[in-house]
Amino acid sequence: MSNESLANLLKEERRFAPPADLATAANVTEAAYAQADADRLGFWAEQARRLNWAVEPTETLDWTNPPFAKWFADGKLNVAYNCVDRHVEAGNGDRVAIHFEGEPGDSRAITYAELKDEVSRAANALTELGVRAGDRVAVYLPMIPEAVVAMLACARVGAAHSVVFGGFSADAVASRIQDADAKLVITSDGGYRRGKPSALKPAIDAAVAKCPQVEHVLVVRRTGQDTAFTEGRDVWWHDVVGRQSAEHTPQAFDAEHPLFILYTSGTTGKPKGILHTSGGYLTQAAYTHHAVFDLKPETDVYWCTADIGWVTGHSYIVYGPLANGATQVIYEGTPDTPHQGRFWEVVQKYGVTILYTAPTAIRTFMKWGDDIPAKFDLSSLRVLGSVGEPINPEAWIWYRKHIGGDRCPIVDTWWQTETGAMMISPLPGVTETKPGSAQRALPGISATVVDDEANEVPNGGGGYLVLTEPWPSMLRTIWGDDQRFIDTYWARFEGKYFAGDGAKKDDDGDIWLLGRVDDVMLVSGHNISTTEVESALVSHPSVAEAAVVGANDETTGQAIVAFVILRGSASETDTLVAELRNHVGATLGPIAKPKRILPVQELPKTRSGKIMRRLLRDVAENRAVGDVTTLADSSVMDLIQSRLPAAGSDD
Ligand code: ATP
Ligand code: MG
Repeated sequence: MSNESLANLLKEERRFAPPADLATAANVTEAAYAQADADRLGFWAEQARRLNWAVEPTETLDWTNPPFAKWFADGKLNVAYNCVDRHVEAGNGDRVAIHFEGEPGDSRAITYAELKDEVSRAANALTELGVRAGDRVAVYLPMIPEAVVAMLACARVGAAHSVVFGGFSADAVASRIQDADAKLVITSDGGYRRGKPSALKPAIDAAVAKCPQVEHVLVVRRTGQDTAFTEGRDVWWHDVVGRQSAEHTPQAFDAEHPLFILYTSGTTGKPKGILHTSGGYLTQAAYTHHAVFDLKPETDVYWCTADIGWVTGHSYIVYGPLANGATQVIYEGTPDTPHQGRFWEVVQKYGVTILYTAPTAIRTFMKWGDDIPAKFDLSSLRVLGSVGEPINPEAWIWYRKHIGGDRCPIVDTWWQTETGAMMISPLPGVTETKPGSAQRALPGISATVVDDEANEVPNGGGGYLVLTEPWPSMLRTIWGDDQRFIDTYWARFEGKYFAGDGAKKDDDGDIWLLGRVDDVMLVSGHNISTTEVESALVSHPSVAEAAVVGANDETTGQAIVAFVILRGSASETDTLVAELRNHVGATLGPIAKPKRILPVQELPKTRSGKIMRRLLRDVAENRAVGDVTTLADSSVMDLIQSRLPAAGSDD
């Protein structure tokens, strides 16, 4: 079944060669793979030289106490200096670092020289507020430039930041502040969302009431709305940061000095506090941003649409792009405010050349219609990226055609909060891309697919995605819980990092991500991946989005249950449901036919837009739904459950 269905997914043999002009001038060529294969550590030592070190490292990797890695351990650097000051010193102070586009339409351009001044002032303010190297600072902000400044100011003084997504509840923030033991919280009065100011400070007030160790709350004024202030504890950013000197001498820290803690999205369960450190993390963030996006800092305008609260925002808004001296766009709001063409208007306005977004967004744009992007001039784009979930071939092709003008290569980048930076991805000037496949480990990265007994599967086989060698931006531990770090990632396969994802190799050895192994379904003795069935459903013209789970079933072990969002024009009929079942059967084989197909209005997603299949499994198996604290909209589950009287009767 598995090989057959993969062959089916591949049957059209759609492949796209890199554009000739891009290939000719690419930052990274095919030779990088061979170079890294011949001397992996030498390769990374060379990449570390992209950074400016106060003390150059002489050691590359210390793996004497696995799984606790040290990279470039005898080197010293300041991460913020690398992201800001050195570009000014190199004569690029007038280059725009950030084009900020607020949701209401306000905008600001911040040059590297201005960013340096602002980060220096913020660093002086942190010092005045008692923050010292080794402390933790929680950041709870909307997508405004101060979020970037706050993170860099922490890095500059050697305090680890813990950014918490600005949409999380007071309880979720409180537990993260407590877990990291943060002494300062940086927030704002609010931010703009869906055309209205939305308050943030009240959640911090409620959270901090449970966190006595917090000494100060530093508040950015973004919306100007009425905001309660606690005398002595709360201070305004424009007062405290505003009055500081723009001179601040950055101190160099050890390469292994903590840079940040970040909690995973919570798609599969309780979030884990992932610890990243400085030198190795910045090396890989900078290298991958340079290689995978082919960034030309003098001419490109880069835009990553992720929130700063996710790892994508950390590595590919803050650290990678700024270490590389990029010019980038930061957008505050939602893609449909004030209209569904807002993203494309932003691309047109700033002449964006590189766009990095998520499959969930792409599927939403597909649902809204081709005519919306068609109204805007997207001819500046040259590279498109995808991250966060497997991108189904249908969405990939749509992205290429309607956003990329059939001209831009798509890089489908697989990585995790834990990996810190991209691990598996095409290179835009090298790889002949295949819609739906992340394809190949990047130079210097060792990834493969193994079976239950940890044997590498041959081409054409499927199993578990593992990383077989340490990499510079790897997580160093789970904050405060080394044992959980070992148990979660290193216990399943001896000596290998197990990522939690299922994957296959095709006949060329290219890697296809198949979703989380917890989600793989076992139907009558056959392993079937949720991703494959979802892709098959979405390839039907009536289906906009699909989420598939395996529910316990007396006869088949597990039965496939599919939740689908229909496209605007399609209406829900028994005929359509039967047609969809047959369509999956024809695409993947009869055994993959869903037993039940439930049309729904919405799917449960995390705040980062990923489908939470475990909640759907709870529904399909008639259980109370599990932890919903990372769910974007809790009413979605009520809506879906209200359909359930139909359970079992669809077949
Ligand atoms: P948690 O670990 O708390 O359940 P999460 O895994 O969703 O949350 P992240 O670290 O944000 O948290 O996401 C990483 C995961 O996202 C990967 O393990 C993988 O399942 C998925 N993913 C990311 N990029 C891709 C991609 N390009 N293709 C397929 N899957 C991807
Ligand atoms: Mg995960």
